[in-house]
Order: sequence, then C-alpha cells, then structure tokens
Amino acid sequence: MYEKLYDENAYAVEFISDVASAYVTTWNEEDVFEFVLEKTCFFPEQGGQTSDTGMFYDTDSENEFEVFHAYIKDDTVYHLARLVKKPVETKKRKKTEEEEEVTDLNSVKLPKRIIGRVNWDERFDKMQQHSGEHLVSGTVHRLFGYDNVGFSLSSDNVTLDFNGQFKDEDILEIEKTVNRAVFENFKVKVYYPDADELRKIQYRSKKELIGRIRIVEFPGYDICACCAPHVASTGEIGIIKIVSAEHFKGGTRMSIKCGYRALRDYTGLLESVKGISRLLSVTKEDVAPAVEKLSKDLRDTKFELAGYKAKVLDAAFESAVNSADKDHNNPIMFTTGLDAAIIRKSINNVLDKTNGYCGVFFSGEKEGYSFIIGSNVKDCTVLAADLREKYGAKGGGNKSMIQGNVIASEDELKEFLKAYSDGVFI
Ligand SMILES: [Zn+2]
Repeated sequence: MYEKLYDENAYAVEFISDVASAYVTTWNEEDVFEFVLEKTCFFPEQGGQTSDTGMFYDTDSENEFEVFHAYIKDDTVYHLARLVKKPVETKKRKKTEEEEEVTDLNSVKLPKRIIGRVNWDERFDKMQQHSGEHLVSGTVHRLFGYDNVGFSLSSDNVTLDFNGQFKDEDILEIEKTVNRAVFENFKVKVYYPDADELRKIQYRSKKELIGRIRIVEFPGYDICACCAPHVASTGEIGIIKIVSAEHFKGGTRMSIKCGYRALRDYTGLLESVKGISRLLSVTKEDVAPAVEKLSKDLRDTKFELAGYKAKVLDAAFESAVNSADKDHNNPIMFTTGLDAAIIRKSINNVLDKTNGYCGVFFSGEKEGYSFIIGSNVKDCTVLAADLREKYGAKGGGNKSMIQGNVIASEDELKEFLKAYSDGVFI
C-alpha cells in the first residue's frame, strides 16, 4: 500500500520518498521515465481533474526530473517524468561523453530516493476550482434537484454538466448563494466515515463507490464523496463566477472560474471593456448601447452602399451594352461588396440588350471569386463546364444562367474569358 499524502493534507507539497520502482517507458510515442514511490503528494488524474505536476530531485545525484503527469491504476500512483537537461557550464569546455548520451534514457542513473515538490500554484488553483465546484453542485442539487453528471477540471477550464436547465435568474441565485458560503469562511470537513456512519450520511456521488469512502463536507451546502485536494476554509476559494451556462445534451454545461482565475478573467475583461470605451468615447457602463448603435449604423451604411454599388453596376452594364457594337456587346464585370441577388437583378436588366454572355465575377468572404453569368442566346452550361475543367470551378445553373465559385486570379480569368466575351471588363 503506497501512501497518498495528498489524501490527508492538501497543503503538503514537499516530501521525501524511497523509489519503489523506476524505469523507462513510452508515453504518447515519447520515451520518458516512470516512477512509483513509497509515498507521494502528487494528486493523480482522476474524477475529471488533471494531475499535479512538479519536480523530483535525486537525493544521491544531481539528476532532476520534471513530473508532467501522474495517473492511478489499481490504487498505485504512477509518475511520468522527463530528465531536466542542465546547461553546459562553460562554452569552451568540450561536452563529456555522458552529456552527449542524454538521448539514451537507459543510461541515466535512476534515483533510489527522491525529494518531491508539487507545483503549488497549480495545486492551489485547482483546489480553488474544485472546492468552488462542490459549492455550486451542492447548491444546484439543493435548490433545483439536479445532479452533476459530468465534471472536468484542467489548468485552463472547469466545466460542470447538470441534468436540468436554468433560467438567467437561477444562475444569479446560485452565484449569490455560493459566494455567500465563501464570505462565511467556514471550515471544510474531510473524513472517512465507517460503514455505519456512512449509511446515515446523505452524500452526492456520481458512481457506486466501494472501499473506504472519503467524504468532503461544506456544512450546510454540500456533502460529496471525493478524492481530490480541497481548501481548508471556504474563504480561500475566493470569488466564484459562473461564466457560461449553455444547453448541453438535454441539460446544461456550466463553466465556472474561481479565485485567482476569476480575478484574471475580470482583469482581462475590464481591460477589454476599457479599450472599447476609449475607442467609442463612452463610459464603461455605456459600452453595450454604443456598440449596438454602431452596429446598426454599420448595417444602414452597408445597405446604402450596396444601393449605390448596384446603381454603378447597372450604369456600367448600360454603358457597356450601349457603347459596344451589336456583335460585341457581351460584358463581364469584376466587382466587390455586392450580394448575389443584386448582381442577378443587374444582369437580368441588360440581358435582352446583349447578344452573348453577360456576367459578374465578385469577391466575397471566400477565397477566389463567385460568379453569375447569364445569356439569352448562348448556352451558359458550356462556359460553366470550361471553368470547371480549367480551374475546378464549382456551382450550378442552367442554359440561361449559371452561378458558382472559382479559385483563380483576375488576370487568369480575364484571359480565359476572352473566348466568351469581347473584353468589356470593368
Ligand atoms: Zn470533488
């Protein structure tokens, strides 16, 4: 039985342990070291939470190992680590053979005893998130009767899945309740009840548990079976913010940020809002209505501009067909910023005045060009087939009008179109 120090004390992050076994193994196609220790402070990945990371220092040599992942299997914690490469001391000194050999992991002398150090900032960050999660899940269960049916906690994201849905005011109520628990700053209880005691406790659990059950209790708010490190008092969680609650598989996926993460998030958002308020010359509080007005103005302007562009296109077509002689009035235009409906209308307006093709190539959001080409006398599908063959153009249509997309430059297309138009390009 290997000792799990993280079970007893979430705040202990430095320890000395004998190495039970150490060897080279493969992890994601990379050769790395794997350690099993007599005891460990490293919380392994389990229950939706990613593992601690940190360092191992060999007590008998200079070798240091960076622990990047830990997992638990059959009650044993496995630590995956890479050797920390030390910089060569002087530039002139020739590397010794031993230094050259670092790529061969089997040549590394593996420690019999190590000093272990868990990355405390990461550990405490996860304690804040996980304890915050218990308060939210317990409160949701108590106020709405929904269960937490999924949980994920990594270094940058915390999500909670519930088998029920919330209104906006429900989210505010949950936030208010859990933050009250933070400000009450009471002690969090962690204990292993015996079978008799356990039967009397109403606790949340995602699965049927066997063996010793570790109970984490936030008195008055939540009792849950859990194996992870938690804060000692709720005040340490810091602010709890529900940043999103979206419909997910018939229930809700909630995303939360607690403590330092919430602070960083607030700082980032505030900077962003300040930036927008400066750009729009309004106070932070007036940012939303100002952006709404801006967005409406932009829509109106685009609409107005499209109207002018349509008139310009109409005029260009009119001028082209009127100035060309009767045998050569088949204009093809190039333009931007117009939608297909306006272009189609413009083409239809002049089709009966042309004796060939009449069309527009226009660039939009996609790479290359969109095109619409019509004719009252020629077969447009012939031109479409040629475009498809030469440039892989995609699209559809019929003899009198085709529409599609093509990836080619304006020069290439103008050269290509010489076979179909007499070069009234705009
Ligand atoms: Zn938990």
